Amino acid sequence: MSETANGDAAERLHAVLERMADAARRAGRDPAELTLVAVSKTRPAADLQALIGCGQRHFGENYLQEALSKIETLRPQPLVWHFIGQLQSNKTAPVAEQFAWVHTVDRLKLVQRLAAQRPFDAPPLNVCVQVKLEDEPTKGGASIAELPALLEAVARAPQLKLRGLMTLPPAEITEVDQRRWFAALREVFEQMRRHHPAMDTLSMGMSADLEAAILEGATMIRIGTALFGERLQSQA
Ligand SMILES: *Cc1c(COP(=O)(O)O)cnc(C)c1O
Repeated sequence: MSETANGDAAERLHAVLERMADAARRAGRDPAELTLVAVSKTRPAADLQALIGCGQRHFGENYLQEALSKIETLRPQPLVWHFIGQLQSNKTAPVAEQFAWVHTVDRLKLVQRLAAQRPFDAPPLNVCVQVKLEDEPTKGGASIAELPALLEAVARAPQLKLRGLMTLPPAEITEVDQRRWFAALREVFEQMRRHHPAMDTLSMGMSADLEAAILEGATMIRIGTALFGERLQSQA
């Protein structure tokens, strides 16, 4: 069983929402523009339930098997599930069927498969394209050069809805470098928005860098550790 008691969850959620609101105020932005995605990888359903009891609705998961079991357990509550893990192209079907959002689309093959596998009676799957701002071989993400074709493909698929861009900065960088990284994504976003004005989402900011992300324009913040404590061993 989890050691995260209910009161603890409320306190952590409140602290994160306060950090987000403070950063929004510093940026002259309305905190209501920000969506908090609680990243619940490795946490048992009971930990999510504690946050749901405090009003949290958006949850992000990285590992499919683990995610599907939590989605099943927590049904029929009105939750919004975000897939934020690296996606293998032979595992797209459950994402297309069970999630409302995917943040890690980075190649055409994923676009084609997700579009084909999204059930026709479901609303379009919300898609953020993951962008790789520097060449890091172990990390997912499309290069800036690949973006126009990829965004066009997402925008053209009726089963998909192009929402925006996502990035994952290197760990352990200074706040100045975090801001530089997020500002770079923001600039790419503004450029791409000339062709895709309906894009409204910049998915960036985690426990260690949410202030920098919000100061640079993030609209969707993905928070794990600050809400749940240190990660448990992966159940995937
Ligand atoms: C794990 C993870 C997060 C949350 O990171 P924390 O530092 O625990 O807040 C956010 N985004 C992605 C893509 C992740 O894999």
